[in-house]
Amino acid sequence: MAQKKLKNPKKKTKNVFLELKEKNKLKDKKTKSFTFLYFVIAFIAIVIINSYIFKTEVKNIPYSEFKELIPSGKISDLIIDTETIQGTLLLEGGKKTKFLTSRVEDPELVKQLQENKIKYTGYYENKIIKAIVSWVLPFAIIILIWNLLLRRMGGAPSSVLNFGKSRGKIYGEDEIKITFDDVAGVDEAKEELKEIIEYLRNPNKFLNIGGRIPKGILLVGPPGTGKTLLAKAVAGEAKVPFFSMSGSDFVEMFVGVGAARVRDLFAQAQEKAPCIIFIDELDALGKARGINPLSSHDEREQTLNQLLAEMDGFDTKTGVIIMAATNRPEILDPALLRPGRFDRHILVDRPDIKGREEILQVHIKGVKIAKDVDLKVIAARTPGFVGADLANLVNEAALLAARKNKNSVTMEDFEEAIDRVVAGLEKKKRVMSKKEKEIVAYHETGHALMAEFLETTDPVHKISIIPRGIAALGYTMQLPTEDRYLMTKKELLDRLCVLLGGRVAEEIVFGEISTGAHNDLYRATDIAKSMVKEYGMSEKLGYVTFEKDRKPLFLDIAPSFSGKDYSEETAREIDNEIKAIIDGAYRKTKEMLMSNRELLDKVAQTLLEKESIDGEELRRLIKGDKVGEDADQSGKKQD
Ligand code: ADP
Ligand code: MG
Ligand code: ZN
Repeated sequence: MAQKKLKNPKKKTKNVFLELKEKNKLKDKKTKSFTFLYFVIAFIAIVIINSYIFKTEVKNIPYSEFKELIPSGKISDLIIDTETIQGTLLLEGGKKTKFLTSRVEDPELVKQLQENKIKYTGYYENKIIKAIVSWVLPFAIIILIWNLLLRRMGGAPSSVLNFGKSRGKIYGEDEIKITFDDVAGVDEAKEELKEIIEYLRNPNKFLNIGGRIPKGILLVGPPGTGKTLLAKAVAGEAKVPFFSMSGSDFVEMFVGVGAARVRDLFAQAQEKAPCIIFIDELDALGKARGINPLSSHDEREQTLNQLLAEMDGFDTKTGVIIMAATNRPEILDPALLRPGRFDRHILVDRPDIKGREEILQVHIKGVKIAKDVDLKVIAARTPGFVGADLANLVNEAALLAARKNKNSVTMEDFEEAIDRVVAGLEKKKRVMSKKEKEIVAYHETGHALMAEFLETTDPVHKISIIPRGIAALGYTMQLPTEDRYLMTKKELLDRLCVLLGGRVAEEIVFGEISTGAHNDLYRATDIAKSMVKEYGMSEKLGYVTFEKDRKPLFLDIAPSFSGKDYSEETAREIDNEIKAIIDGAYRKTKEMLMSNRELLDKVAQTLLEKESIDGEELRRLIKGDKVGEDADQSGKKQD
C-alpha cells in the first residue's frame, strides 16, 4: 500500500482515476464469480442428462442368453420397451447388475415370464421430462451462452434490452475535482478553453448577445500531453455534468448498436444540459469512411453517420458542448471536421522547457522534495517528455528514494530516474542526442532566417525543436499575412530559398548534411518542377507548359498516370532547367547565410536553450529590440 501511494503521488487527479479503476475491477470480479456460478449449473445439468440417458453399468446380453436366464430365476424387475428389455440380473456371489437386451419378436415371452413368476412391466415414457430435456434445456443453454457473450463484450452487466444504451460514464457537476491548476504547460489550449467554460457557466450571457459558441472542440496532440486531463478540467472548472466515453465504446459487433448508443448519449446529455460530452480517442470511431474498399465497416460507418447527424441536429443553445480528443487527426473523416461539427481544433503539443517545469511543479505537489532539487535543471534534461512522462518521472524518483529509505526525494533520485526513463524512451527512439539536437537547431534556424531575410516570404510564427512535436524533429512555422491566389516567379524562388535554408545551414556549420532535409528537397524539387513544366517560368524553354491539368478538381487524389507527351530531349532539358533553378536558389541561400554566420549561431543557440522561439523574439534577435509585426492563426510549416 505504501508503494502504491508513492506510485501515485498524492494528486487528486490520479486518485480519481485510480478509484474509478478500482471500482471497475470490483465490478469485474463480481461478474466473474457470477459467470462461474453459471458454469457450475451448466455442468450439473450435463451430468444429470448424462446419467439419465446412459444408466450406469448396464450389461448388454444377447436375447438368447436372456431366454436361457428366464428359468434360472436370476433375473427380475423387467421393463419391456418397444425395442429393448431391461431388468436386474443376479450375478454369482449375490451381486446385482442392470442388464439390457434387444427385444425380438417373441409371442411366447409373456407366457414364459408368467410361468417363472418374474415381475415385468411395460415401459412408460415420462413425456414431461423428455420435453424438458429435448426442448427447454437447449434453450436454457443458448440463453446462457448469449448472456456470457454479452458480458464478455461489455463491462456492464447488460441484458438484451439495454444493449443500445450509452456506455458513457456520467460524472455529476461536483464529482470532478480536476481544475486547470492540475494541467500545466499548455497555456494556449487553456486560454482557448476558457471561453467555453465561461459559456457553460453562464450560457444566457452569451445567448442574449447572440453569440455563437463552437459545437465541437477537438483536442489534438501526441499521446500523454494531457488531452483527457484538459477535458476533465474543463468540466471541473465549469461545474457541469460530464459525459465521458471512449470512441471504442460505440463500436460493437452488431450493426446498429453503436448508432443507438450515440442516440442515447445525446438524448441523455440534452436532459442534463448545460453539460459536456467528451469522446476520447475519437479516431476509433471517426476513421475516414471508405478508405479501404475491400473491408466494409457498416457498423462503424453507421455509428459515425449517427454522430454526424446528432451533431447537426442540436444547436449549442441547448448548452451541450462536445469535446473530443485524438492523437491521429489525419485519419479522421473530413465530414467530422467540417464547420458545425468539430470545427475548433486545439493543439495540445509537447511542452517546451518552461512548460515541463510547470508540469513538474504540479506533480511534485504531494511528494516530499529535498531542498537541492532544481526543477529547471530537470526540465532542461528532459526534452521531448510529455506530461505523462513527467508524472512517471516524479513517481520513479519517489520510488527510488523510498527504496533507499530516504525521507525526501533528492536531486540524485531525479537524475537516476531521468536516466531510467530516458533509457526506456530511447528504445522507442524518441529522444534526440545532443548532436542531433544541434543539427536540428541550425537546420530550423536556416529556414527561419531565410524566411525573414527575403521580402516576399511569410513571416515566421514559431520555430521549435521540441522532438516529436507536431513535426518529426523540429519545425519553422510561417504564417501568411494575406490570402494568396497567385504567386509570382520571385515569390516561388524565395520560397525555394527558404526550403533550402535548412540544409544549407547544416552544410555551413557542420560541413556535412543529414537526412533531415529530405522533405524540404522533395518540396523544393516539386516547386521547381512546376515552375518549368506548368507555369512556363523557364527562360530556356519559354512559355510552354508540359503538364496537362489532369488533377481532379475537388478530390485530393493522385491523378491517373499517363505517358508524357514530349520528346526525350525536351525531358532532358526540363531536368536541366529544374536543376538550374534549384542551383541558383542554393547559391543565393548559401551566400545570405554565410554572410550572417554570427546571427545564425546566435539564433541557433537561443533555440537550443529555449527549444522554441516565437516570431517576435526571432525578429528581435535579428534587429536589436525592434518588435516585428504580429502574426495570427493557422499557417504552414517546414520540417
Ligand atoms: P492524453 O489524453 O493526451 O493521452 P492524459 O490526459 O491521459 O493524456 O495524461 C495522462 C497523465 O499525464 C495525466 O493523468 C497527468 O497525470 C499527466 N499529464 C499529462 N499532461 C499533463 C499536463 N499538461 N499537466 C499535468 N499533468 C499532465
Ligand atoms: Mg487520452
Ligand atoms: Zn527543413
